[in-house]
Amino acid sequence: MYTVYKIYGFVAMYGLKAIVIGAGIGGLTTGIALRQAGYEVEIYDRVRDLRPIGAGISLWSNGVKILNRLGLGQQLAAIGGQMHYMEYRHLSGDVLNHISLQPLVEEVGQRPYPVARRDLQNVLLEAFESAGGKLTLGTKCIGILDGFRDVTAKFEDGSTATGDLLVAADGVRSLLRQYILKDAVEPKYAGYVNWNGLVPISTDLAAADTWSIYVGEHKRASLMPLAGDRFYFFFDVPLPKGTVNDVANYRNELKQHFQGWAKPVQLLIDRLEPESVARLEIHDVGPISKMVKGRVALLGDAAHATCPDLGQGGCQAIEDGWVLANYLSSTNLSVPDALRRYEIERKVRTTEIVNKARNRAETIHGKDPEVTQKWYDQLSQENPLDVTKAIAKIISGGPLH
Ligand code: FAD
Repeated sequence: MYTVYKIYGFVAMYGLKAIVIGAGIGGLTTGIALRQAGYEVEIYDRVRDLRPIGAGISLWSNGVKILNRLGLGQQLAAIGGQMHYMEYRHLSGDVLNHISLQPLVEEVGQRPYPVARRDLQNVLLEAFESAGGKLTLGTKCIGILDGFRDVTAKFEDGSTATGDLLVAADGVRSLLRQYILKDAVEPKYAGYVNWNGLVPISTDLAAADTWSIYVGEHKRASLMPLAGDRFYFFFDVPLPKGTVNDVANYRNELKQHFQGWAKPVQLLIDRLEPESVARLEIHDVGPISKMVKGRVALLGDAAHATCPDLGQGGCQAIEDGWVLANYLSSTNLSVPDALRRYEIERKVRTTEIVNKARNRAETIHGKDPEVTQKWYDQLSQENPLDVTKAIAKIISGGPLH
């Protein structure tokens, strides 16, 4: 039995319980939304210490709008970088295009926020716990028992947790994805390696209000301003799968890959602290045929890990959480029906984003060198308004237009 009250934006359903596996951006956002929808929520994560992989993330306006609606507007504004412009530069340093983001903000009604992952995680964790959610760390989920009336997560230590639904937000290498799909779906290597980290803002690297992206030789070097006078930087280089990942060699390999690039790129490589740099082989997942089975829903990267070339993977996990909580707070839907609606809505949106991001990754990283050259040529001729319109189109496809 459950009781219904109207609270926040949701109709709150008291007496129902959600088990969430994974305390990343997707799991935590879902936990907050479901708490606000009145659900009892327990999140379980296999790690003992929650540490985000990677340094920064751009939260585009579709993600920000949802976090605002969850009551996190002030916190986000405090951790968000002031990114007013975007600029593309040739590897030599010549400006190819300088783009004001103001038309984008006016069109979609919300500025994007580049944030440090650690800051975002702190905001989400605090919101979840202060809303009365329960987080258990060091507990790896190894299986699911889906019953007619409830669903149970089984953990490696022999314990279990039972609820009215289970959200599998266990990331790109999801173990639980197989429960929904039967056959294993392996993440697909996108063909390039990404190094990322934080450095202090300094005008000899880039303007403090600008996302600067150097392009050439199918590679990228990028600097994005965060709050706290920091740049989030990343480098992308197409490489075969399985190259050696040795922190002691990060500076050398970047020096080699970016030899002859502009002075700010060289300074960035000199200034980064290799010990705090993440080096990742980029993978994506899907589009997959199913996101839901019975009382179990896949969410975030577990369902649709996305090449980061659109900056939308985390934003899609946030959208998932919002849409799921909305259907689950609908009084005339059973839990399995609400999950089916969630699947129908989210499959369309995330299929489009995964495919678009993969195409963009291929264009940027030289899958077909002619296409990449055409993109380089276009960059200097493109009307900045066309760039912001294209970003706005992606943002406007989200649940809060
Ligand atoms: P994760 O963050 O991976 O969380 C999964 C959690 O599940 C982890 O904490 C893990 O420990 C836990 N877990 C796994 N298995 C189990 C288990 N069996 N039992 C219990 N716990 C388990 N997105 C953007 O929106 N904008 C960007 O600018 C952007 N840039 C990116 C740059 C890079 C280099 C990369 C790689 C990604 C980027 N993304 C970006 C994508 C974004 O990081 C992801 O989409 C997002 O972090 C996914 O969140 P998630 O909660 O689904 O998964």
